[in-house]
Amino acid sequence: MFKNKKIFILGMARSGYEVAKLLSKDNNQILITDMKEQDPKQVEELKGLGVNYIVTDSPEEMLDDSYDYVVKNPGIISTHKCVVKAKKLGIEVINEVEVAYHYLPKGVKIVGITGSNGKTTTTTITYEILKAAKLPVHLGGNIGIPLSKLVTDIKPNDILVIEVSSHQLVDFRDFKTDISVVTNLSPIHLDFFGTYENYINNKARIFNHHTKDDLVILNHENNDVLKISENIPSQKLYFSSKNRHDAYIEKGYICYQGDPIVETTDIRVKGMHNYENIMCAIMVAKYFDVENNIIKEVLNKFAGVEHRIEFVKRLNGREFYNDSKATNVESTIIALNSFDKPTIILLGGLDRGHSFDDLEPHMKNVKGIVCYGETKNRIREWSHKINIDSVVVNTLEEAVKAAYNLSDENDVILLSPACASWDQYKSFEERGDEFKKFINNLE
Ligand code: ADP
Repeated sequence: MFKNKKIFILGMARSGYEVAKLLSKDNNQILITDMKEQDPKQVEELKGLGVNYIVTDSPEEMLDDSYDYVVKNPGIISTHKCVVKAKKLGIEVINEVEVAYHYLPKGVKIVGITGSNGKTTTTTITYEILKAAKLPVHLGGNIGIPLSKLVTDIKPNDILVIEVSSHQLVDFRDFKTDISVVTNLSPIHLDFFGTYENYINNKARIFNHHTKDDLVILNHENNDVLKISENIPSQKLYFSSKNRHDAYIEKGYICYQGDPIVETTDIRVKGMHNYENIMCAIMVAKYFDVENNIIKEVLNKFAGVEHRIEFVKRLNGREFYNDSKATNVESTIIALNSFDKPTIILLGGLDRGHSFDDLEPHMKNVKGIVCYGETKNRIREWSHKINIDSVVVNTLEEAVKAAYNLSDENDVILLSPACASWDQYKSFEERGDEFKKFINNLE
Protein backbone atom coordinates (compact mmCIF):
# COMPACT_ATOMS: atom_id res chain seq x y z
CA MET A 1 0.00 0.00 0.00
CA PHE A 2 2.83 2.39 0.82
CA LYS A 3 5.10 2.22 -2.23
CA ASN A 4 6.15 5.14 -4.43
CA LYS A 5 3.89 7.38 -2.37
CA LYS A 6 4.22 10.96 -1.20
CA ILE A 7 3.51 11.08 2.51
CA PHE A 8 3.13 14.03 4.86
CA ILE A 9 3.75 13.16 8.52
CA LEU A 10 2.13 15.77 10.75
CA GLY A 11 3.82 15.80 14.16
CA MET A 12 6.94 13.87 15.02
CA ALA A 13 7.42 12.72 18.65
CA ARG A 14 7.89 8.99 19.19
CA SER A 15 5.24 7.68 16.81
CA GLY A 16 6.08 10.10 13.96
CA TYR A 17 9.73 9.12 14.17
CA GLU A 18 8.96 5.39 14.07
CA VAL A 19 6.44 5.64 11.25
CA ALA A 20 8.82 7.79 9.19
CA LYS A 21 11.48 5.09 9.55
CA LEU A 22 9.02 2.40 8.56
CA LEU A 23 7.79 4.34 5.52
CA SER A 24 11.21 5.49 4.39
CA LYS A 25 11.64 2.30 2.37
CA ASP A 26 9.95 1.47 -0.94
CA ASN A 27 10.68 4.73 -2.68
CA ASN A 28 8.24 6.73 -0.59
CA GLN A 29 8.85 10.49 -0.44
CA ILE A 30 8.38 11.70 3.10
CA LEU A 31 8.04 15.08 4.73
CA ILE A 32 7.77 15.25 8.52
CA THR A 33 6.83 18.48 10.26
CA ASP A 34 6.58 19.49 13.88
CA MET A 35 6.04 22.79 15.66
CA LYS A 36 8.90 22.03 18.09
CA GLU A 37 12.54 21.07 17.54
CA GLN A 38 12.97 17.30 17.96
CA ASP A 39 15.79 15.10 19.25
CA PRO A 40 18.75 16.02 16.97
CA LYS A 41 19.99 12.40 16.83
CA GLN A 42 16.62 11.16 15.58
CA VAL A 43 16.38 14.02 13.10
CA GLU A 44 19.84 13.19 11.70
CA GLU A 45 18.89 9.55 11.40
CA LEU A 46 15.71 10.40 9.48
CA LYS A 47 17.59 12.78 7.19
CA GLY A 48 20.03 9.93 6.50
CA LEU A 49 17.05 7.86 5.37
CA GLY A 50 16.01 10.59 2.94
CA VAL A 51 13.17 11.99 5.07
CA ASN A 52 12.60 15.76 4.85
CA TYR A 53 12.16 17.43 8.24
CA ILE A 54 10.77 20.91 8.80
CA VAL A 55 9.97 22.76 12.03
CA THR A 56 7.00 25.03 11.40
CA ASP A 57 3.88 26.51 12.99
CA SER A 58 2.09 26.45 9.65
CA PRO A 59 2.51 22.94 8.21
CA GLU A 60 -0.54 23.49 5.99
CA GLU A 61 1.61 25.79 3.85
CA MET A 62 3.75 22.79 2.87
CA LEU A 63 0.77 20.59 1.94
CA ASP A 64 -0.53 20.36 -1.60
CA ASP A 65 -2.46 17.85 -3.65
CA SER A 66 0.67 16.00 -4.72
CA TYR A 67 0.56 14.12 -1.39
CA ASP A 68 -1.13 10.70 -1.15
CA TYR A 69 -1.48 10.54 2.64
CA VAL A 70 -1.27 12.66 5.75
CA VAL A 71 -0.18 10.64 8.78
CA LYS A 72 -1.44 12.65 11.73
CA ASN A 73 -0.05 12.43 15.25
CA PRO A 74 -2.92 11.30 17.54
CA GLY A 75 -2.55 14.37 19.77
CA ILE A 76 -3.41 16.79 16.95
CA ILE A 77 -7.08 17.72 16.75
CA SER A 78 -9.09 17.13 13.58
CA THR A 79 -9.80 20.86 13.26
CA HIS A 80 -6.10 21.64 12.82
CA LYS A 81 -5.62 23.76 9.68
CA CYS A 82 -3.44 21.16 8.05
CA VAL A 83 -5.96 18.35 8.64
CA VAL A 84 -8.79 20.51 7.31
CA LYS A 85 -6.73 21.35 4.23
CA ALA A 86 -5.86 17.69 3.62
CA LYS A 87 -9.52 16.74 3.72
CA LYS A 88 -10.40 19.59 1.35
CA LEU A 89 -7.74 18.38 -1.07
CA GLY A 90 -9.11 14.84 -0.84
CA ILE A 91 -5.96 13.50 0.83
CA GLU A 92 -6.55 10.62 3.17
CA VAL A 93 -5.71 11.35 6.82
CA ILE A 94 -4.56 8.29 8.75
CA ASN A 95 -2.28 7.63 11.71
CA GLU A 96 0.78 5.65 12.67
CA VAL A 97 -1.12 2.56 13.87
CA GLU A 98 -3.10 2.41 10.63
CA VAL A 99 0.14 2.57 8.62
CA ALA A 100 1.85 -0.12 10.70
CA TYR A 101 -1.22 -2.37 10.42
CA HIS A 102 -0.56 -2.71 6.70
CA TYR A 103 2.94 -4.01 7.39
CA LEU A 104 1.81 -6.88 9.62
CA PRO A 105 2.36 -10.40 8.32
CA LYS A 106 -0.62 -12.69 7.78
CA GLY A 107 -2.48 -14.40 10.58
CA VAL A 108 -1.45 -12.07 13.40
CA LYS A 109 -4.09 -12.03 16.13
CA ILE A 110 -4.71 -8.50 17.33
CA VAL A 111 -6.07 -7.81 20.80
CA GLY A 112 -7.02 -4.11 20.98
CA ILE A 113 -7.74 -2.70 24.43
CA THR A 114 -9.52 0.61 24.89
CA GLY A 115 -11.74 2.39 27.43
CA SER A 116 -11.70 5.58 29.45
CA ASN A 117 -9.71 4.09 32.34
CA GLY A 118 -7.60 1.00 32.89
CA LYS A 119 -6.20 0.65 29.37
CA THR A 120 -2.52 0.50 30.31
CA THR A 121 -3.10 -1.79 33.28
CA THR A 122 -5.32 -4.21 31.34
CA THR A 123 -2.97 -4.24 28.37
CA THR A 124 0.01 -4.95 30.61
CA ILE A 125 -1.65 -7.75 32.60
CA THR A 126 -2.93 -9.39 29.42
CA TYR A 127 0.52 -9.27 27.89
CA GLU A 128 2.20 -10.63 31.04
CA ILE A 129 -0.17 -13.61 31.21
CA LEU A 130 0.22 -14.52 27.53
CA LYS A 131 3.98 -14.12 27.82
CA ALA A 132 4.09 -16.36 30.91
CA ALA A 133 2.16 -18.95 28.89
CA LYS A 134 5.05 -18.82 26.40
CA LEU A 135 2.84 -17.59 23.58
CA PRO A 136 4.49 -15.48 20.84
CA VAL A 137 3.07 -12.18 22.07
CA HIS A 138 4.08 -8.55 21.52
CA LEU A 139 3.09 -5.47 23.52
CA GLY A 140 2.57 -2.03 22.01
CA GLY A 141 0.36 0.86 20.98
CA ASN A 142 -0.57 3.80 23.15
CA ILE A 143 1.36 2.24 26.02
CA GLY A 144 4.48 3.99 24.65
CA ILE A 145 5.65 1.44 22.08
CA PRO A 146 4.51 2.53 18.60
CA LEU A 147 3.28 -0.34 16.47
CA SER A 148 5.57 0.93 13.68
CA LYS A 149 8.53 0.07 15.87
CA LEU A 150 7.31 -3.49 16.42
CA VAL A 151 6.07 -4.65 13.06
CA THR A 152 9.38 -5.79 11.68
CA ASP A 153 9.77 -8.24 14.61
CA ILE A 154 6.32 -9.75 14.28
CA LYS A 155 5.97 -13.13 12.61
CA PRO A 156 2.90 -14.70 11.00
CA ASN A 157 0.40 -15.93 13.60
CA ASP A 158 2.01 -14.03 16.50
CA ILE A 159 -0.25 -12.26 18.97
CA LEU A 160 -0.28 -8.50 19.33
CA VAL A 161 -1.69 -6.91 22.48
CA ILE A 162 -2.11 -3.20 21.96
CA GLU A 163 -3.48 -0.34 23.96
CA VAL A 164 -5.66 1.85 21.74
CA SER A 165 -6.54 5.42 22.75
CA SER A 166 -9.55 7.36 21.58
CA HIS A 167 -7.19 9.76 19.82
CA GLN A 168 -5.84 6.86 17.77
CA LEU A 169 -9.27 5.49 16.93
CA VAL A 170 -10.19 8.73 15.14
CA ASP A 171 -7.97 8.02 12.14
CA PHE A 172 -8.41 4.29 11.66
CA ARG A 173 -9.53 3.10 8.25
CA ASP A 174 -8.69 -0.58 7.63
CA PHE A 175 -7.32 -1.37 11.08
CA LYS A 176 -9.20 -4.28 12.60
CA THR A 177 -8.78 -6.27 15.78
CA ASP A 178 -9.63 -9.92 16.34
CA ILE A 179 -10.48 -9.24 19.96
CA SER A 180 -11.59 -5.83 21.22
CA VAL A 181 -11.77 -5.04 24.90
CA VAL A 182 -13.65 -2.02 26.29
CA THR A 183 -12.88 -1.58 29.99
CA ASN A 184 -15.38 1.22 30.67
CA LEU A 185 -16.57 4.61 29.37
CA SER A 186 -16.90 7.90 31.21
CA PRO A 187 -16.83 11.55 30.13
CA ILE A 188 -13.19 12.43 29.50
CA HIS A 189 -11.33 14.14 26.63
CA LEU A 190 -14.35 16.33 25.95
CA ASP A 191 -12.03 19.17 24.92
CA PHE A 192 -10.87 16.98 22.02
CA PHE A 193 -14.20 15.41 21.05
CA GLY A 194 -16.60 18.28 21.78
CA THR A 195 -19.38 16.11 23.19
CA TYR A 196 -19.60 12.85 25.14
CA GLU A 197 -21.75 11.46 22.34
CA ASN A 198 -18.90 12.04 19.85
CA TYR A 199 -16.41 10.54 22.28
CA ILE A 200 -18.30 7.28 22.79
CA ASN A 201 -19.27 6.95 19.13
CA ASN A 202 -15.60 7.28 18.27
CA LYS A 203 -14.78 4.55 20.81
CA ALA A 204 -17.05 2.21 18.82
CA ARG A 205 -14.42 2.28 16.08
CA ILE A 206 -12.59 -0.39 18.10
CA PHE A 207 -15.21 -2.76 16.59
CA ASN A 208 -14.52 -1.63 12.98
CA HIS A 209 -14.83 -4.37 10.34
CA HIS A 210 -15.78 -6.99 12.91
CA THR A 211 -17.72 -10.04 11.78
CA LYS A 212 -19.29 -12.85 13.77
CA ASP A 213 -15.85 -14.47 13.90
CA ASP A 214 -14.43 -11.67 16.02
CA LEU A 215 -14.71 -11.32 19.76
CA VAL A 216 -15.47 -8.39 22.02
CA ILE A 217 -15.01 -8.24 25.78
CA LEU A 218 -17.29 -5.72 27.44
CA ASN A 219 -18.09 -4.24 30.83
CA HIS A 220 -21.68 -5.25 31.59
CA GLU A 221 -22.01 -2.64 34.32
CA ASN A 222 -21.37 0.27 31.99
CA ASN A 223 -24.45 1.40 30.05
CA ASP A 224 -22.47 3.33 27.48
CA VAL A 225 -20.33 0.29 26.71
CA LEU A 226 -23.55 -1.69 26.17
CA LYS A 227 -24.96 1.10 24.02
CA ILE A 228 -22.04 1.36 21.59
CA SER A 229 -21.84 -2.42 21.17
CA GLU A 230 -25.57 -3.02 20.76
CA ASN A 231 -25.62 -3.61 17.01
CA ILE A 232 -22.24 -5.14 16.30
CA PRO A 233 -21.99 -8.64 14.77
CA SER A 234 -19.09 -9.79 16.98
CA GLN A 235 -19.33 -12.52 19.61
CA LYS A 236 -19.75 -10.84 22.97
CA LEU A 237 -18.36 -11.79 26.34
CA TYR A 238 -19.20 -9.74 29.41
CA PHE A 239 -17.47 -9.13 32.70
CA SER A 240 -19.14 -7.65 35.73
CA SER A 241 -18.10 -6.50 39.18
CA LYS A 242 -21.66 -7.04 40.45
CA ASN A 243 -23.45 -9.93 38.76
CA ARG A 244 -22.74 -13.31 37.26
CA HIS A 245 -21.81 -12.88 33.59
CA ASP A 246 -18.97 -14.55 31.68
CA ALA A 247 -16.42 -13.21 34.16
CA TYR A 248 -17.49 -12.22 37.67
CA ILE A 249 -16.49 -12.25 41.33
CA GLU A 250 -18.02 -14.82 43.66
CA LYS A 251 -17.05 -15.93 47.16
CA GLY A 252 -13.74 -14.07 46.90
CA TYR A 253 -12.77 -15.63 43.59
CA ILE A 254 -12.55 -14.16 40.11
CA CYS A 255 -14.44 -16.69 38.05
CA TYR A 256 -14.78 -17.34 34.35
CA GLN A 257 -17.83 -19.23 33.10
CA GLY A 258 -18.25 -21.22 36.31
CA ASP A 259 -14.54 -21.81 36.90
CA PRO A 260 -12.99 -20.09 39.95
CA ILE A 261 -9.70 -18.90 38.46
CA VAL A 262 -7.99 -16.99 41.25
CA GLU A 263 -8.75 -15.94 44.79
CA THR A 264 -8.62 -12.16 45.19
CA THR A 265 -6.37 -12.55 48.27
CA ASP A 266 -3.80 -14.11 45.92
CA ILE A 267 -3.83 -11.04 43.68
CA ARG A 268 -1.18 -8.49 44.51
CA VAL A 269 -2.87 -5.40 43.03
CA LYS A 270 -5.90 -4.21 44.91
CA GLY A 271 -9.24 -2.55 44.22
CA MET A 272 -12.38 -3.47 42.30
CA HIS A 273 -11.14 -1.46 39.31
CA ASN A 274 -8.11 -3.74 39.13
CA TYR A 275 -10.28 -6.84 39.44
CA GLU A 276 -12.22 -5.53 36.44
CA ASN A 277 -8.98 -5.09 34.49
CA ILE A 278 -7.97 -8.60 35.54
CA MET A 279 -11.29 -10.05 34.40
CA CYS A 280 -10.63 -8.59 30.93
CA ALA A 281 -7.13 -10.10 30.89
CA ILE A 282 -8.43 -13.49 32.04
CA MET A 283 -11.04 -13.54 29.28
CA VAL A 284 -8.37 -12.89 26.66
CA ALA A 285 -6.11 -15.51 28.26
CA LYS A 286 -8.91 -18.06 28.19
CA TYR A 287 -9.48 -17.36 24.49
CA PHE A 288 -5.86 -18.49 24.03
CA ASP A 289 -6.41 -21.47 26.39
CA VAL A 290 -3.98 -20.33 29.07
CA GLU A 291 -4.08 -22.57 32.14
CA ASN A 292 -5.29 -21.27 35.49
CA ASN A 293 -2.01 -21.90 37.32
CA ILE A 294 -0.16 -19.59 34.90
CA ILE A 295 -2.76 -16.85 35.34
CA LYS A 296 -2.52 -17.24 39.12
CA GLU A 297 1.24 -17.06 39.13
CA VAL A 298 1.28 -13.82 37.14
CA LEU A 299 -1.41 -12.16 39.28
CA ASN A 300 0.40 -13.19 42.41
CA LYS A 301 3.51 -11.33 41.27
CA PHE A 302 2.12 -8.43 39.23
CA ALA A 303 2.58 -5.32 41.39
CA GLY A 304 0.75 -2.91 39.08
CA VAL A 305 1.93 -0.70 36.28
CA GLU A 306 4.44 1.85 37.42
CA HIS A 307 2.88 4.95 39.06
CA ARG A 308 -0.65 3.43 39.21
CA ILE A 309 -1.32 2.31 42.79
CA GLU A 310 2.07 0.64 42.42
CA PHE A 311 3.28 -1.26 45.47
CA VAL A 312 6.72 0.16 46.26
CA LYS A 313 7.90 -1.61 49.38
CA ARG A 314 7.26 -2.66 52.95
CA LEU A 315 9.34 -0.81 55.48
CA ASN A 316 9.03 -1.42 59.24
CA GLY A 317 5.51 -2.74 58.81
CA ARG A 318 4.34 0.16 56.59
CA GLU A 319 3.32 -0.43 52.98
CA PHE A 320 4.19 2.31 50.49
CA TYR A 321 2.14 2.80 47.30
CA ASN A 322 2.92 5.11 44.40
CA ASP A 323 -0.16 6.43 42.56
CA SER A 324 1.51 9.43 40.98
CA LYS A 325 -0.69 8.96 37.88
CA ALA A 326 -3.64 10.16 40.02
CA THR A 327 -3.62 13.72 38.72
CA ASN A 328 -7.27 14.36 39.52
CA VAL A 329 -9.75 13.74 42.34
CA GLU A 330 -11.53 10.88 40.50
CA SER A 331 -8.35 8.79 40.33
CA THR A 332 -7.55 9.45 43.98
CA ILE A 333 -11.03 8.21 44.93
CA ILE A 334 -10.24 4.94 43.17
CA ALA A 335 -6.98 4.63 45.09
CA LEU A 336 -8.65 5.39 48.44
CA ASN A 337 -11.26 2.72 47.79
CA SER A 338 -8.54 0.18 47.09
CA PHE A 339 -7.35 -0.08 50.71
CA ASP A 340 -9.03 -1.14 53.90
CA LYS A 341 -6.13 -0.35 56.23
CA PRO A 342 -5.33 2.86 58.10
CA THR A 343 -3.83 5.19 55.51
CA ILE A 344 -1.62 8.25 55.43
CA ILE A 345 -2.16 10.06 52.14
CA LEU A 346 0.16 12.54 50.42
CA LEU A 347 -1.94 15.11 48.60
CA GLY A 348 -0.89 18.11 46.54
CA GLY A 349 0.63 19.51 43.40
CA LEU A 350 -0.35 21.95 40.69
CA ASP A 351 -3.21 24.25 41.71
CA ARG A 352 -5.94 24.25 39.08
CA GLY A 353 -8.36 25.73 41.60
CA HIS A 354 -10.20 22.40 41.78
CA SER A 355 -12.09 21.30 44.87
CA PHE A 356 -11.11 18.33 47.05
CA ASP A 357 -14.62 17.98 48.55
CA ASP A 358 -15.50 14.88 46.51
CA LEU A 359 -12.77 12.94 48.34
CA GLU A 360 -14.52 13.24 51.71
CA PRO A 361 -16.86 10.21 51.49
CA HIS A 362 -13.84 8.02 50.63
CA MET A 363 -11.60 9.15 53.49
CA LYS A 364 -12.88 6.76 56.17
CA ASN A 365 -9.55 4.87 56.44
CA VAL A 366 -7.42 7.99 56.24
CA LYS A 367 -5.87 8.94 59.57
CA GLY A 368 -3.50 11.60 58.32
CA ILE A 369 -2.97 13.91 55.36
CA VAL A 370 0.37 15.29 54.29
CA CYS A 371 -0.26 18.44 52.26
CA TYR A 372 2.49 19.56 49.93
CA GLY A 373 3.09 21.48 46.69
CA GLU A 374 1.18 24.45 45.33
CA THR A 375 -2.17 23.28 46.73
CA LYS A 376 -0.84 22.61 50.24
CA ASN A 377 -2.70 25.38 52.06
CA ARG A 378 -6.03 24.69 50.38
CA ILE A 379 -5.74 21.00 51.28
CA ARG A 380 -4.83 21.90 54.84
CA GLU A 381 -7.99 24.07 55.17
CA TRP A 382 -10.09 21.26 53.75
CA SER A 383 -8.55 18.74 56.18
CA HIS A 384 -9.69 20.96 59.07
CA LYS A 385 -13.18 21.02 57.61
CA ILE A 386 -13.39 17.24 57.48
CA ASN A 387 -11.59 16.77 60.79
CA ILE A 388 -8.59 14.73 59.72
CA ASP A 389 -5.11 15.41 61.10
CA SER A 390 -2.76 17.01 58.61
CA VAL A 391 0.72 18.44 58.27
CA VAL A 392 1.95 20.96 55.71
CA VAL A 393 5.31 20.74 54.00
CA ASN A 394 6.72 22.15 50.78
CA THR A 395 8.37 19.32 48.90
CA LEU A 396 7.65 15.69 48.19
CA GLU A 397 10.83 14.70 50.00
CA GLU A 398 9.63 16.41 53.18
CA ALA A 399 6.22 14.87 52.62
CA VAL A 400 7.62 11.32 52.59
CA LYS A 401 9.46 11.94 55.88
CA ALA A 402 6.38 13.55 57.44
CA ALA A 403 4.16 10.65 56.32
CA TYR A 404 6.52 8.14 57.86
CA ASN A 405 6.59 10.09 61.14
CA LEU A 406 2.78 10.11 61.28
CA SER A 407 2.49 6.40 60.55
CA ASP A 408 2.34 3.24 62.68
CA GLU A 409 2.96 -0.38 61.88
CA ASN A 410 0.37 -1.83 59.48
CA ASP A 411 -0.43 1.52 57.88
CA VAL A 412 -0.53 2.24 54.18
CA ILE A 413 1.42 5.30 53.01
CA LEU A 414 -0.07 6.41 49.73
CA LEU A 415 0.99 9.04 47.21
CA SER A 416 -2.20 9.71 45.27
CA PRO A 417 -1.95 13.46 44.97
CA ALA A 418 -5.21 14.43 43.18
CA CYS A 419 -3.21 17.12 41.40
CA ALA A 420 -0.98 17.34 38.34
CA SER A 421 2.75 17.29 38.98
CA TRP A 422 3.77 20.35 37.01
CA ASP A 423 4.26 22.70 39.96
CA GLN A 424 7.39 20.76 40.93
CA TYR A 425 7.98 18.07 38.28
CA LYS A 426 8.08 17.62 34.52
CA SER A 427 5.67 14.68 34.59
CA PHE A 428 3.80 12.30 36.86
CA GLU A 429 6.46 9.71 36.02
CA GLU A 430 9.23 11.93 37.36
CA ARG A 431 7.17 12.63 40.51
CA GLY A 432 6.61 8.90 41.05
CA ASP A 433 10.29 8.10 40.52
CA GLU A 434 11.31 10.72 43.07
CA PHE A 435 8.74 9.39 45.54
CA LYS A 436 10.30 5.95 45.30
CA LYS A 437 13.78 7.40 45.68
CA PHE A 438 12.76 9.25 48.86
CA ILE A 439 11.25 6.06 50.29
CA ASN A 440 14.50 4.23 49.69
CA ASN A 441 16.36 7.09 51.40
CA LEU A 442 14.31 6.52 54.57
CA GLU A 443 16.18 3.36 55.41
P1 ADP B 1 -5.39 4.43 31.21
O1 ADP B 1 -4.29 3.78 30.44
O2 ADP B 1 -6.75 4.16 30.62
O3 ADP B 1 -5.16 5.88 31.53
P2 ADP B 1 -4.30 3.14 33.58
O4 ADP B 1 -4.30 1.66 33.53
O5 ADP B 1 -3.04 3.86 33.30
O6 ADP B 1 -5.47 3.68 32.64
O7 ADP B 1 -4.82 3.59 35.00
C1 ADP B 1 -4.85 4.97 35.34
C2 ADP B 1 -5.68 5.20 36.57
O8 ADP B 1 -7.04 4.92 36.25
C3 ADP B 1 -5.35 4.26 37.73
O9 ADP B 1 -4.39 4.79 38.58
C4 ADP B 1 -6.67 4.16 38.44
O10 ADP B 1 -6.84 5.29 39.24
C5 ADP B 1 -7.69 4.26 37.31
N1 ADP B 1 -8.18 2.96 36.82
C6 ADP B 1 -7.46 1.90 36.38
N2 ADP B 1 -8.26 0.89 35.99
C7 ADP B 1 -9.53 1.34 36.13
C8 ADP B 1 -10.81 0.78 35.87
N3 ADP B 1 -10.97 -0.45 35.38
N4 ADP B 1 -11.89 1.54 36.16
C9 ADP B 1 -11.76 2.79 36.65
N5 ADP B 1 -10.58 3.37 36.92
C10 ADP B 1 -9.47 2.67 36.66
